[in-house]
Amino acid sequence: MSFAFPPADQATVPIASSDLMFPVHRVYCIGRNYAEHAREMGHDPDREPPFFFQKSPDNLRCDGVFPYPAQSDDVQFEVELAVYLKSGGIDIRSDVALEKIFGYGVALDMTRRDLQGAAKKLGRPWDVGKSFEDSAPCGPVCRVEDVGHLESGAITLDQNGLRQQSGDLSQMIWSVPEQLSILSQFFMLRAGDVILTGTPAGVGRVARGDSLHCCIEGLPALDVSVV
Ligand code: MN
Repeated sequence: MSFAFPPADQATVPIASSDLMFPVHRVYCIGRNYAEHAREMGHDPDREPPFFFQKSPDNLRCDGVFPYPAQSDDVQFEVELAVYLKSGGIDIRSDVALEKIFGYGVALDMTRRDLQGAAKKLGRPWDVGKSFEDSAPCGPVCRVEDVGHLESGAITLDQNGLRQQSGDLSQMIWSVPEQLSILSQFFMLRAGDVILTGTPAGVGRVARGDSLHCCIEGLPALDVSVV
């Protein structure tokens, strides 16, 4: 088979302590998965069913640089635990979901909040607010063999040395196995899928020149410069 023109490069994320790259298939994100963040966005954090949206695989960027995007005056950070799958399926039971996980990493779900807010008001899709160039800065993938499964531990974001976001993975409304199970009822999950698992309270806007220091206990920190 020949292509009419060269296909886009495969999106990849480096694997910690390895020369191998993780080949990305899809990027799923869960909304409002920490109660305090749901409240700060004006929603009831009751355990209503989770909802998901997607970013494009090539929105992932692993070199620590976030170029301030076009068309927004309110671009915000959301630090999140990223889950990387080594296998998938449909209707995955939550008691076997952890077996599908290749590893974990730190990621940012950068958001054009003004565009997202306008879309919400009009009942339109969130894509322009969420799925734009370089909107998912991320650190390396750490294998489960090296870091275990992350069910609790501090998750924080410092902006220019000031603590802005602070929470604990154990505060997720829907656990990682529950998220995988529910997601697999709507989509066929497969090796290469990445799930951003929601952000704790304290989201805020960035400016060019900012440095963001993102930490999840047990994983290497992610440092990002806004340019
Ligand atoms: Mn998010």
